[in-house]
Amino acid sequence: MRRSLTPILITVSHIVGIDLGTTNSLIGVMEAGFPILLADAEGVRLTPSVVYFPKDAEPLVGRAAVRMRALEPENTVYSAKRLIGQRAGDGTEDVSYRLAGKRGEPVRICAQGSELAPEEVSALVLKKLRADAEHALGEPVTRAVITVPAYFNDAQRNATKRAGELAGLTVERIVNEPTAAALAYGLDRLREKSKIAVFDLGGGTFDISILELNAGVFQVLATNGNTHLGGDDIDAAIVAELAARISADASITPRLREAAIAAKHTLSANDTASIELPFITDGRSFSCTFTLEELERLARPIIEQTRTHCMRALADAKVKPEQLNEVILVGGQTRMPMVRRLVAEIFGREPNTDQNPDEAVAVGATIQAGILSGAVQNVVLLDVTPLSLGIETFGGLMNIIIPRNSTIPTKRGELFTNAVAGQRSMLIRVLQGERELARDNWELGKFDLSFEPALKGHARVGVQFEIDANGILHVLARDTKTGVEQRVEMRSAVDVSDEAVEKMLGDSLEHAFEDMNDRAFTEAKLKADEMLPAVRTALAQIGSGLEPVERELIKRRAQEVETAIAGGGATALKKAVAALDEATQQLAALLVEKAMRG
Ligand code: AMP
Repeated sequence: MRRSLTPILITVSHIVGIDLGTTNSLIGVMEAGFPILLADAEGVRLTPSVVYFPKDAEPLVGRAAVRMRALEPENTVYSAKRLIGQRAGDGTEDVSYRLAGKRGEPVRICAQGSELAPEEVSALVLKKLRADAEHALGEPVTRAVITVPAYFNDAQRNATKRAGELAGLTVERIVNEPTAAALAYGLDRLREKSKIAVFDLGGGTFDISILELNAGVFQVLATNGNTHLGGDDIDAAIVAELAARISADASITPRLREAAIAAKHTLSANDTASIELPFITDGRSFSCTFTLEELERLARPIIEQTRTHCMRALADAKVKPEQLNEVILVGGQTRMPMVRRLVAEIFGREPNTDQNPDEAVAVGATIQAGILSGAVQNVVLLDVTPLSLGIETFGGLMNIIIPRNSTIPTKRGELFTNAVAGQRSMLIRVLQGERELARDNWELGKFDLSFEPALKGHARVGVQFEIDANGILHVLARDTKTGVEQRVEMRSAVDVSDEAVEKMLGDSLEHAFEDMNDRAFTEAKLKADEMLPAVRTALAQIGSGLEPVERELIKRRAQEVETAIAGGGATALKKAVAALDEATQQLAALLVEKAMRG
């Protein structure tokens, strides 16, 4: 008897792709092999990342919240993404709602008398996106891919993940925004081999990435950027200009900001914009014509700041502008003609404007969600670490374990030993940054690993860093003799001052010379600290076996090393140590002879 075949209905749970933007957010899903962005009940795809907290009702999210921003600025939270991972007192945030938190501790957002973490506000935006998607798809949505700026550090990525979890989503992957944009660009060009730059200027952040696309493999070659540079800065400059013209106080800033943004948008397609502000102050009205020329004068110094980041990314990727096949624009602010002119000037080519700059990141996140769910095949995404990771070693030096721009996921380790005899534990300080001295980098966390006391240089402690596909760091330290180990995941939301992130690269270049000098000095001093007592002991024990002149020379050379240590110069100290080394050859030979006889 032939059995009939019954079709099995397989329901594939969708994984959604989400662009959680500073200004706007979007959500999408793969349908029949195409990335589709989903609209809300009003048929709009772009959801403003704004939350209004009413007195005794559920928070409003999106356009409804934007409408409340001018009326109740103190209860309407926008740009929460800029605050993720920030410490209170960083003092950079000029927002219309109140911030709280003890200085140096995670910043809190105050609205309607309660305090929230920035990621709790982001969670409300994600919740709305999720509800809209469930409505559009007619099924529950529980899994997501969420994008973050390439420059987000470990703590900020974790906070974003937590925001997703608070919104009831399992975050399957955190993807860098520019990488997502490149995916959106590259999906129909998978067979090609090309190098592309993604220039992403949004409301709050700027990111530049150089990627290589080869037979379906996307590899990020380098990233750079600034987490506090974007359209908001241009808005603030226009607001300041208007406030000066009206000679108004800060209370009308929210209305001025609205007018400034509208004028800025108009000037992307026109030469003039009229600003009308009826009954703006003391019953007086204000109106003026704002010109493209005036806007560009205010915006130029802000936009110019992107140039150095682009140059650094190109240098890190070892790519010349003429080797690029394409420059992709992402982020609403790249609609401004002046931004496009600057990009054309920096890269020596007209930028590609095929992609909708507001949607490319969400489309890419959706494709990545499709890769994870199996809906998209033959694509591999390789990302890189934006900053080096390492640990502090003896003498306060930074010992890099994973260099910046390494492809992730990645796992690397190194073996360390004890600097002092009988030492029972080792403090593992996990550092992130580009400076030579540990104190100039940021501490992501620290922990103690105890091991069996051993002679100096005899303990063997393996330290392994693993960065997972979300860019989150797992540290493992193990005493290789006893197998005792400690695993730590870097989770805390505010371990690194966000402000310092973009300063790091600049500082490392600016201080490159002193840093090298400091490192060379520290290394030479470690050697001197070891040699001096050893030479003194040897002289006391077997110095009589040397010619008096030679003894005197050794003493003089040792004194010169002491003087060089006090002097602080690396070159002088290295020379003095080398001279002492040279002068003690005979003494060392005698020591060896004595040991052999013994
Ligand atoms: P994003 O963070 O990518 O959503 O970008 C938002 C930023 O783009 C905001 O500063 C907007 O004011 C700006 N923006 C959006 N549309 C335009 C436009 N047509 N011209 C100039 N700036 C724009």
